[in-house]
Amino acid sequence: MLDLAEEAGLVHTSNNSADRANLICNCCPCCCTVLRGRTQLKHPHAFEPSRFEAHVASDECTGCAVCVDERCPMKAIEIKDDVAVVNVQECIGCGLCVTGCPIGAVELVERKHIPSIPATIQEMGAKVLQEKGRLGAFLKIMQS
Ligand code: SF4
Ligand code: SF4
Repeated sequence: MLDLAEEAGLVHTSNNSADRANLICNCCPCCCTVLRGRTQLKHPHAFEPSRFEAHVASDECTGCAVCVDERCPMKAIEIKDDVAVVNVQECIGCGLCVTGCPIGAVELVERKHIPSIPATIQEMGAKVLQEKGRLGAFLKIMQS
C-alpha cells in the first residue's frame, strides 16, 4: 500500500515523535488539511519536515522537469539553467522527487540541523496543547 501511495504521488506522514509510528497517513497536496497548512496557509509549523532534504546531482540531471511538474507537492524545485534546483527551506524531505526521477538524479540527504522531537506521542500531544495555550483546559477536563 505504501508503494502504491508513493507511486501515486502521496506524501507519507506520521506522528512527530521518537517512539514507533502510531499512524501513517498518505496525503495529497490538493485537499489534505495537513499539507495545505504549509502549501496554502503558509504556516511553517503546520507539520514538521522529515530529517532529510532532497539533493540533485546537477551533473546527471537532464532538466526534464518531472520532479517539478509531477512530483514535488511543495513546489520546492525549479529548473534553472536546465538543471533542477531544490529550495531546501520549502523541501519537506518527502522523497517523491527521488522516486519520480527517471534517471535517479535525486537523493535524500540528512539535514545538518535536526530539531529535537518529543520522545513519545503523548509528549508530542502535550507539547502541541502547550503551544496552543490549551494544556491547562485539557488537563481540567481529564481530571473532571
Ligand atoms: S526528474 Fe530528475 S532528471 Fe528530471 S529535472 Fe528532476 S532531477 Fe533532473
Ligand atoms: S523531497 Fe523532493 S518532492 Fe519532497 S518536498 Fe523535497 S524537493 Fe519536493
